[in-house]
Amino acid sequence: MSTELVQTIAEIRHRLESIRSSHQIIGLVPTMGALHAGHESLIQQARKEADCLVVSIFVNPLQFGPKEDYTRYPRMPEADLDFCRRLDVDLIFAPEVEEMYPTPSLTSVEVARMTDHLCGPFRPGHFSGVATVVAKLFHIIQPQRAYFGEKDAQQLRVIERMVSDLNLAVTVVAVPTVRESDGLAVSSRNQYLSPEERRSAPILYRALQAAQQAIAEGVLDCGEARKRALAVLEQDQSVKVEYLEIVDPEEMQPVEQITGPVRVAGAIRIGAIRLIDNLLIAP
Ligand code: AMP
Repeated sequence: MSTELVQTIAEIRHRLESIRSSHQIIGLVPTMGALHAGHESLIQQARKEADCLVVSIFVNPLQFGPKEDYTRYPRMPEADLDFCRRLDVDLIFAPEVEEMYPTPSLTSVEVARMTDHLCGPFRPGHFSGVATVVAKLFHIIQPQRAYFGEKDAQQLRVIERMVSDLNLAVTVVAVPTVRESDGLAVSSRNQYLSPEERRSAPILYRALQAAQQAIAEGVLDCGEARKRALAVLEQDQSVKVEYLEIVDPEEMQPVEQITGPVRVAGAIRIGAIRLIDNLLIAP
């Protein structure tokens, strides 16, 4: 089957009807487009496990704050179509905003607690916007399997928790973070970094590694591990730290003493660009 572009909910439902009734596995990779090596990894994994592979491309206005980069977010539909063709995607679902939200959404999905820390306080409404659009996509496409990147670890946990709390019949598959050779996590926003900013950007990964190293050396106090990471970030004056936290990987609550696996996660700003990254650390 060649890659087909579908833009309406009625059409994608119609296309998937016969696939579902013949008990084939539908895999979904939700994206905001501007596809890159991170998305490629999700798509490749999905391709191995699904009979029918759907990639959704939708820049979801609900998950952007009023001061965020919704209008400036990269959109490159032609390149994305070629990208999906090369990876043997069956269907691209790329609805317009009016198709997904013909009327203002009065219904939203809120996943409490896991959004209290990390990106949550800095992006009010963001995770509710994500959970709401993913719930809609799950209802429209009804995939048996859906693929999300660990790069957005808090988002991944929010989706996993929504699925278990609401008994949604989908298996969430977590895919490891894809990095550039210098450690920078691949992201659609990296293309907006100036050459100088791009040179600074891997500092976030190095900071996370410093915390990892401290824990590997036996540091059990998260305050101390966090200090080691912050010391790395302080080396570059052009970097503004939004947060650097050590949390439990399940509910994303701050941890004081290491007694089991933790996730160290950070967000920094370099110029106008916000970068996030995280590492799972098992002591
Ligand atoms: P986005 O288009 O940024 O909304 O991302 C779509 C999906 O790709 C999300 O599940 C992300 O976590 C995942 N993703 C983005 N960047 C990476 C990366 N560098 N490695 C792995 N997954 C990623």
